[in-house]
Amino acid sequence: MNIEALKSFDREHIWHPYASMRNPSEVYVVDRAEGVYLHFADGRKVIDGMSSWWSVAHGYNHPKINEAVRRQLEKMSHVMFGGLTHEGAVELAAKLLSVAPKGLDKVFYSDSGSVSVEVAMKMALQYCEAKGVASKRKFATVLGGYHGDTWHAMSVCDPVSGMHGLFAGGLPINFFAPRPEIPFSGEWNYSDFAPMNNLLERHSSEIAAVILEPIVQGAGGMRFYHPQYLRELSEACRRHSVLLILDEIATGFGRSGKFFASQYAGISPDIMCIGKALTGGYMSFAATLATSEVSDAISDGGAGLFMHGPTFMANPLACAAANASVDLFLESDLLANVSRISKGLEEGLRGLSGVPGVREVRVLGAIGVVEMEKNIDIALMQKRLISRGVWLRPFGRLLYTMPPYIIDDVQLKTLTDAICGSVRDE
Ligand SMILES: *Cc1c(COP(=O)(O)O)cnc(C)c1O
Repeated sequence: MNIEALKSFDREHIWHPYASMRNPSEVYVVDRAEGVYLHFADGRKVIDGMSSWWSVAHGYNHPKINEAVRRQLEKMSHVMFGGLTHEGAVELAAKLLSVAPKGLDKVFYSDSGSVSVEVAMKMALQYCEAKGVASKRKFATVLGGYHGDTWHAMSVCDPVSGMHGLFAGGLPINFFAPRPEIPFSGEWNYSDFAPMNNLLERHSSEIAAVILEPIVQGAGGMRFYHPQYLRELSEACRRHSVLLILDEIATGFGRSGKFFASQYAGISPDIMCIGKALTGGYMSFAATLATSEVSDAISDGGAGLFMHGPTFMANPLACAAANASVDLFLESDLLANVSRISKGLEEGLRGLSGVPGVREVRVLGAIGVVEMEKNIDIALMQKRLISRGVWLRPFGRLLYTMPPYIIDDVQLKTLTDAICGSVRDE
């Protein structure tokens, strides 16, 4: 099919994320991808500053992950996980538990980040049921969060971006505290946490767990909050017998500057979700990690079983990609490299502070954010960026980047120059 025919069929028949079928926005045809580059079918190539939504951390077409998947393909691409197991699943669990915050001891594999959140929430409810506190059926979270697009994951997303209004009446009602306001490097003041503490004091008899993204609120606004918030939360959850679920799907594997963002606060959750970069972006795959305290209670409780089991649970191809990807994270000097990227982003984007139309520039780990005063015209901004050799997908007032970790300093400069140039054109 030629490019125009392909785009025209796509336009007529295929949904894209958060898109209209009546008036779909421009899409670009990718022919192949290599390293940090997407190669468009029309011959242009652009640096992928999004890592395909946080996932392609090692870059495209990585020889080690390719080889691992190829080897697994020759053995078996899939086998059910009910009553069967395989080396890839076991090896991966051992690796994940060796790097996870202390206390996490059990692994549940699933097929996407949203499902891993559903699994975490089901674990919390079964835990409470087993503990004889079945009145704890709800969840608490903070405004500005994002946990996925499936039903209960959506119920703990920010009510506006999480589309609560659109699905009102169908969506379970949960408790929301204000979003953490004190920035990552700001001066801590307990008043930031007080509303969440009050909420837990008043409603802990109804709340099974608090769920939130540690340090970085991603798709809900790209904000970085103070680590003390997490320390206070961890303490308060313990005091009120409420479980703590941390969603590290976006932040995991070094993106925030720590291996897991919760390490900024030195806390360990009861349940943790990981996904996105887990397979280096090769396949949809995620995991929910839990403490023995959680798994013991569920196993000793009424049903005695944890009631979840997707068809593609622990898919061997995904496990092979994840094993290779996690090896790459562990073999490299990951945090030093992320710190190099962080400096490049800071130096490259600093000049935008104070430019008319720019509200704030902020960088944490390998994440750079330019928040504008007004909503960005996505199509126009993308055209400007592409003409400068860069692929980004802004949303709302936010132009942001989380490049693949293999990006070199020259490519990083191309990326930040493209952002600065495109913003100045605004
Ligand atoms: C992307 C994301 C999810 C959802 O993961 P999917 O794989 O898209 O289902 C959940 N939580 C956070 C923090 C995310 O960034």
